[in-house]
Amino acid sequence: MLDSMRILVADDSVVSRRLLEVTLKKWGYETVSASDGTQAWDVLKRDDTPQLAILDWVMPGFTGPEVCQNVRQVSRDRYVYIILLTSKSLKDDLIQGMNAGADDYLTKPFDPTELQVRLRAGRRVIDLQTELVAAREALREQATHDALTHLLNRASVLEVLTRELGRAEREESPMSMVICDLDKFKSVNDRFGHLAGDAVLKQAARRMQTNIRTYDSVGRYGGEEFIVVLPGCDAEAAAGHAERLRAALEAEPMDLGETVGGSIQVTASFGVASVGGRTYTTPQALLHCADEALYESKRAGRNRVTVWNPAQAVQQDQPRAGHGETVLEPAAEIVPSHGR
Ligand code: GH3
Ligand code: MG
Ligand code: MG
Repeated sequence: MLDSMRILVADDSVVSRRLLEVTLKKWGYETVSASDGTQAWDVLKRDDTPQLAILDWVMPGFTGPEVCQNVRQVSRDRYVYIILLTSKSLKDDLIQGMNAGADDYLTKPFDPTELQVRLRAGRRVIDLQTELVAAREALREQATHDALTHLLNRASVLEVLTRELGRAEREESPMSMVICDLDKFKSVNDRFGHLAGDAVLKQAARRMQTNIRTYDSVGRYGGEEFIVVLPGCDAEAAAGHAERLRAALEAEPMDLGETVGGSIQVTASFGVASVGGRTYTTPQALLHCADEALYESKRAGRNRVTVWNPAQAVQQDQPRAGHGETVLEPAAEIVPSHGR
């Protein structure tokens, strides 16, 4: 049943209400009844309110225009198209009703043909509004998500990272991030073509998405690189989560898609960086640390998790720019996740 086919009929007169209900049912509408303004408002304030309402003007509890006002005061995506029903035909009343937020009005006793066309106009408005909301949602999805993998896009996941870092610092709680880069992914493209590469990327993204906790976020950072934000996780916990992701990617070969057929074993390398213990930093610095740890995973043979370790920076012949400013807890060493 389309939502635009459900109508609230609010009238304190049983006869008048029954008459409307019978007429509306004959036209295929499903009706919801209210015998006063309070009941009408109870129905209309629910999330699953009918989107069409015919309200009597004079009712106990709230009057029709008062119910209108209440409805218009709550802002939500679901529009309710309201027709006021009145035996009054004074122009002042009409203005008052429309000012209260009614979309249309009918004078009693109603003419069925007139009611029918007015309901049709109402349904057009509701349908247009529903399309508008859907289009807005689609735009929001497009702006914040990556088209290929449907994960958060780079800007969005960096926004999450910045927000969670800020929150961790305010609440003096730990938080971690993981950067993940598929191993030798260029060779998948080279051997099987770009479409097969895309198919693998999508599966990798899905496996990551299904293997994080609900309050974690995963996004596509770039080509075959992903970022996971782990609120509340210290380095040790984050390493565990990264290890689970690593294992999930490795667990089963990934399909190469319909055009190529078959499947291929894919692995990824991970870098983990954490804040906590009253030591916090900028998103850029944290990213840099995670990236260094990732680089260490690649260097040590790929398909493994490395937690960023300040000692690493010291070992480097030429520490990269900005690194010296970063002070993080000296937590970590390489997690031997491979080949166990
Ligand atoms: P490493 O283990 O060192 O990370 O090796 P790699 O081959 O994965 O690294 P490299 O950075 O050299 O190559 C990344 C490749 O990812 C190159 C590029 O063609 C591929 N790639 C990036 N984005 C996409 C995409 O959207 N679709 C496909 N099919 N391939 C992509
Ligand atoms: Mg890469
Ligand atoms: Mg790679």
